[in-house]
Order: sequence, then structure tokens, then C-alpha cells
Amino acid sequence: MASDRVIPISWEMIEQRAKEIAQYQAEKEWTGVYGIPRGGVMPAYLVAKELNVPVVSEPSDDVLVIDDLVDSGKTARDFTPTQFDALYRKSHSPAQYASSAPVLDGWLVFPWEKETSGPEDSISRLLEFIGEDPNREGLLNTPKRVVKAFAEMTGGYKINPLDDLGVTFNEDVDQMVVLSNIHFDSLCEHHMLPFSGVATVGYIPNGCIVGLSKLARVVEAFSRRLQVQERLTDQIADAINDALNPKGVGVVVTGHHSCMSLRGIRKANAQMTTSALRGYMKDDGTVRAEFMALHRADLL
Ligand code: ZN
Repeated sequence: MASDRVIPISWEMIEQRAKEIAQYQAEKEWTGVYGIPRGGVMPAYLVAKELNVPVVSEPSDDVLVIDDLVDSGKTARDFTPTQFDALYRKSHSPAQYASSAPVLDGWLVFPWEKETSGPEDSISRLLEFIGEDPNREGLLNTPKRVVKAFAEMTGGYKINPLDDLGVTFNEDVDQMVVLSNIHFDSLCEHHMLPFSGVATVGYIPNGCIVGLSKLARVVEAFSRRLQVQERLTDQIADAINDALNPKGVGVVVTGHHSCMSLRGIRKANAQMTTSALRGYMKDDGTVRAEFMALHRADLL
């Protein structure tokens, strides 16, 4: 889940955590403590003081490695899980690293970071990286705007599609219901560049039907996230399948990927089509043919 909550971390919290880490690690015979630059350095000093061992400048097998935060676990993977500890962890972090650390989801701001530090800083850094001056007038508010835009473009994390699909009407029909040309905008998770297109969503009711707008809302909930088109297609089909228990579900998604046109292979007109079929739509050739005949993809 996306979390934009800013959590300031105080020195008291860090000292407390350093004591807890030292207690947790006391049984092992560490010869030193190594702090991952830059965030792990200060905590490493505090833990080393508690353990009464020196801070060392290179990690090795009998050295305890400390970081401020386990997030994706990318840094931690360079070390054995038992030698890696951290002040805090995220709920999505790999469980084997710093498993004693409390989970703290949100945007953590440590005392050695700027007080205003937040996602905007990363955008300023990116502007500098491409050779721009983040302080020139036209760019002054760009980081704020970019962060706001990304929050909006990934607003699907805050929508639970099952809430929308929970409102159903009992109706004894067994004809196929197909909603075509549902426009969507998404972000590819590999480049965070937009991909957009249209989805067709169809199902065969099994005693209950759902408002058409709800089908579009499911597409919205899953597309406004970091995605790959294959997963997007599957997630839409599975949500409808789980919520309505229909006799069949079909989803066809056709998209243009700007990460293919703006960069890399730079092929502007390529479009990608993915489909996910469940129940009769998958197993019965005639039903599948009917769904495919009703499906239309008019890309703009
Ligand atoms: Zn991409």
C-alpha cells in the first residue's frame, strides 16, 4: 500500500532502538559493527558503544552490519540475514532481515536528513541529475507538482475493488455482459512511465449482476498503480471472478507503452494485447468466440 505519511524519527527513538539491537545481538560474538553509508553509520556507532566493540570500515563474517532501514531488502541481500540488523523495517521488507526491527510504514525522516526531506527531494535530485537547476523559477514548484501527480496516478492503491463489486443485484440472467472500450491510464513498474489503452471486461452472471460503472471502477483501481499489463489483466479478471462467482469472466486489455516509444527500442505505434479468461470463457470455445466477437478495442 502506498503511504505518504511523514514520520519524523527522533534521536531518542534511535538510541532506544540501538539498545534493543545490542540486547538482541549480545549473544553473538561480533568483533565489530559496520554501518551502511550513509544512514547506517550513526546507528552503527550507537550499537557498537552498547556492545563495547569497535566500529569497523569493512564488513566481514563476524561483523554486525547495521542500516537505518530495511526497505526492499536490496542492500541487505549482500549480507547473511543473521548479521544484518536495522532500526526499522517496512511491512513489505523480506522477513529474514532485521526481523526484530519494528515495522514502520511511511516516509521516515531521520535526524541527519533535512527536516523538510520528503519525496520532493528525490525529484530535485533527479532534476540535478539531468543537468537542470532545480532553483530556476520554472522548476521551483516542480518537485511538489510531480509528487502530487504521482500520488494521483497511483491512487488505485487506495481503492479496494472488492468494495465496489460488493454491491450486486440478484438477477436470474445468464446472458453475457460485456463492457468495451474502458479507457485506462497506468504506469509501467519498470520505468514509471505511462501506458494507456482500453480494456474490455465481460462476464456471465451466476445469479447476480453488478452495475456497469463498477466494472470500469475495477479497471481504474488496478490500473492506477505501478503495473505490468499482464498482471493488470489478470487482477481485473480475478477480482470479478472472486466477487461475483460468475460462470465465466473475460478481460482483454490493449495498451500503448510510452516506455517503448520514448526510450529503448522507440517504436511508437506498437500496441500490446493481453487477455485473461476464466470459467466458460476459457473452457468453452463457443462462449469464448462470442466474447471475442463482442470485444472491441478502439484505441484513440
Ligand atoms: Zn517500462
